[in-house]
Amino acid sequence: MQKDALATARRLFERDRRRAAEPHVLETLLRFGQGALSYALRSRIRILLLRAGELYREASPALARLGIDVDAWPAPPAGLFVVEERALFLRSRSPMTVAHEFGHALDCALGGGVYRSSIDPQVRALFAGAQTFVTPYGRNRRRRVLRRIAARVRRGQRLRLPWPRATRARLRHGDPGMHDYVEMLFEHEFGERLDLGKVVSI
Ligand SMILES: [Zn+2]
Repeated sequence: MQKDALATARRLFERDRRRAAEPHVLETLLRFGQGALSYALRSRIRILLLRAGELYREASPALARLGIDVDAWPAPPAGLFVVEERALFLRSRSPMTVAHEFGHALDCALGGGVYRSSIDPQVRALFAGAQTFVTPYGRNRRRRVLRRIAARVRRGQRLRLPWPRATRARLRHGDPGMHDYVEMLFEHEFGERLDLGKVVSI
């Protein structure tokens, strides 16, 4: 099973043959399980690893065409999912970045090209009614917080986020409705229920 999952994960990189997959990134993707990986592959999701010093606009024709110059941001993002290309671009290879951006990719695949989370009334209701969030990032997208983090990363300081690690247990405890929704996605849409043995925190 793990072997199948690995083969599937590798295929997500194969649409651009000049860019190889990297073991560390594959390892993170494998945590999603064979079901989610095949779902992404069937939905024509692809993953591209930026080379050192390479700019997003060099790798993504859509960004270049639309004139979205994320490279000019004070701190260019660690990773980016471009809906139009169904492509996930990764500058950082950290598990946090890989998992976060692959989450966007699955969300887009689930919505057939638009984010399911933005059109599904069930998700909207869950989000609106949520009392707690796994991390403050889930609620607070204020740029001030992100800027502070980005500045710290740029200065090379060890990044210590002021909130606990996001875990499945924490989601189940804090927001059982959203937890069940995610379980449902894995079981019914990706066709593979993730067993608890596979649960990890990132
Ligand atoms: Zn994001």
